[in-house]
Amino acid sequence: MNHVMTKVAIDAMKKRKKKGTDDGVHHISDARKELLQDLAREQGTPIFVIDHEKLRDNYREFRENLPKVQVYFAVKANSNLEIVKTLYQMGSSFDVASMPEFMIVYENIRKMPAKERQDWIWDKIIYANTIKPIETLEALDKYNPLVTFDNIEELKKLRRHAPHAGLVLRIRVPNTGSLVELSSKFGAHPGESVDLIVAAFDMGLVVEGISFHVGSQCTNFENYVQALQLSADIINEVETRTGRKIRILDIGGGFPVKYHPEVKSFKILAKQLNAEIKRLFPKDMQILAEPGRFLVANACTVVAKVVGKAFRDGKPCYYINDGVYHTYSGQVFDHSNYPVLSFKEGETHISAVFGPTCDAFDTITLSAELPDLDIGDLVYSENIGAYSHASSTYFNGFPPAKVVHINK
Ligand SMILES: *Cc1c(COP(=O)(O)O)cnc(C)c1O
Repeated sequence: MNHVMTKVAIDAMKKRKKKGTDDGVHHISDARKELLQDLAREQGTPIFVIDHEKLRDNYREFRENLPKVQVYFAVKANSNLEIVKTLYQMGSSFDVASMPEFMIVYENIRKMPAKERQDWIWDKIIYANTIKPIETLEALDKYNPLVTFDNIEELKKLRRHAPHAGLVLRIRVPNTGSLVELSSKFGAHPGESVDLIVAAFDMGLVVEGISFHVGSQCTNFENYVQALQLSADIINEVETRTGRKIRILDIGGGFPVKYHPEVKSFKILAKQLNAEIKRLFPKDMQILAEPGRFLVANACTVVAKVVGKAFRDGKPCYYINDGVYHTYSGQVFDHSNYPVLSFKEGETHISAVFGPTCDAFDTITLSAELPDLDIGDLVYSENIGAYSHASSTYFNGFPPAKVVHINK
């Protein structure tokens, strides 16, 4: 093999470095930028562009690094039906949290040719909202679903309204340093977990597994290590006390996306997870994960248009036709920040970018680095596939961005 780099190769590498393309963060190529602008001219703006090849790449990356872990895509991250279809074709299963999400997945599976279908619903769906209305339980029961719970009131509801469900106890685990924490709302305290499982068995219900969620965009991998140890302790104690086996371990979501170069790579986390799982659990334990963000975040780009322009406080202000009530909703609900980028080049100025509604809260940023833009110019944001379009509203009469699929 020839390890000597030619001058051309070195120059190319330096150029890539300068442009920031090898910092591990997914950036779209120049060719892709052309395509996005063509699509925007053709389809109008704002558009939310979903790249299905990137979805498939992300799925493969997850599976290759965690080969023992079955993927249950968390539909809430982006419930677009075509995303569900593409991931289903890749072999994914799904984590749903409401009856409409359940039906999105279930209807999709039902329409598949019989030989590609899985009859056993657990192989394809986990209902992973620990709190379920009685109406939902009644509707779910006939599917013999796999559902999570984390408290005694839910167990009582399950016994009456969904006795055929398989249960998974969600435990409370450390969420330190995750972008979005979940442990204040969900999860049984480890100290009460074994009692809850015993109570379920005493009610004639069947507990199949343990689950946790370390918080979304978890960059502190120690959360996973501690959660795995807690799960193993609970499973062992249940076995000692009841003689019953827990067969499923659901390690939840939280797998971080490289929004910034500082986010440690998924590969490092995967290595740690594989080692801990091997150390703590028997070989025949079924391991599930519920990645949401990881599969969709960098597969989507939004393209919007400058519809107004002003100078305020000595700063250029751009009004674009997408904002925080729409695709940029993650800036509120997901505590994320999406840089607004220009297709145009040129000297940049610190600029404000506002969304289209009449609410001052609809401010995307007060400090974008943008060249001088004109009305009608297009702007875009990358890595905006998770918790964005999914929480878009119709506020002020502005509908969510139009979805456009590429590489389907
Ligand atoms: C939101 C959620 C997920 C997905 O989390 P990500 O951080 O997007 O991977 C998985 N499981 C449950 C129960 C969730 O609520």
